[in-house]
Amino acid sequence: MKNKVVAITGSTSGIGLEIAKRFAYLNAKIILNGLGNNEIIEKIIIELKNLGASEVLYHPANLSQPIQITEMFELIAGKFNKLDILVNNAGIQFVSPIEDFPDEKWEEIIRVNMISSFYTIKYAIPLMKKNAWGRIINIASAHSLVASPFKSAYVAAKHGLLGLTKAAALEVAEHNITVTAICPGYVKTPLIMNQIAATAKARKISEEEVLRDVILKAGATKKFVEIEEIVNMVIFLCDDKAGSITGVPLVIDGGWTAG
Ligand code: NAD
Repeated sequence: MKNKVVAITGSTSGIGLEIAKRFAYLNAKIILNGLGNNEIIEKIIIELKNLGASEVLYHPANLSQPIQITEMFELIAGKFNKLDILVNNAGIQFVSPIEDFPDEKWEEIIRVNMISSFYTIKYAIPLMKKNAWGRIINIASAHSLVASPFKSAYVAAKHGLLGLTKAAALEVAEHNITVTAICPGYVKTPLIMNQIAATAKARKISEEEVLRDVILKAGATKKFVEIEEIVNMVIFLCDDKAGSITGVPLVIDGGWTAG
């Protein structure tokens, strides 16, 4: 991966951070993005460099703002004049019945979890076409395929992201660029752990019951999906011998959507 330029949105925490660490270990050039104070970002940059990243560039684009995505890609184009791999990973959640769902929260989730990927893909394609090679990997969700109550914005955004994946894949297939969606079940990250209290309130059950009867019950394995399983899939999709895997969801959900 030494000469590969890899942009990972939302790579300051959870799944995105572990994807960045693996690419660092493989000596890639990494564009880091996500929220976090200077101290946290500095620490991550040092860690990625120590792991072996040949370059690390941080851009603080807030993905709910298209202009900031444009600025991030101007930086990528100016600095590297190419992009090999784009991982659209940033995502947020909010749990509420539709009647009480704050309008601005609903729209923010659609912007961050879906619309931002339209812009990153739009700007990534010309940079990938230059080298006639590219991998666009959208971190979608089991919620791209099935719904859960009280997560209307997230489910709508993730279904939309899978649709965008399919359409984009068809457009760029002949340029040796693949576009895929990884669809994980529940993974133990801040995104999940921070929604337990709100889910308990919406479902009128205890937090222990949310963990046991909602989260761990979703998959047939009754276990969290491990971050490593997602990272491994990302790397597999970046292999030259994964060029025919495009326009599809890669589901890693412990059997959740099989049931
Ligand atoms: P996380 O909360 O640990 O990380 C989310 C990342 O997105 C952070 O780096 C955060 O700074 C960034 N982010 C949030 N809002 C942003 C914004 N406006 N602009 C730029 N960056 C922003 O969450 P995670 O669980 O690692 O989630 C990563 C992805 O995986 C998300 O798309 C999520 O929907 C998806 N996913 C997670 C699970 C799960 O169970 N954790 C399951 C399926 C899919």
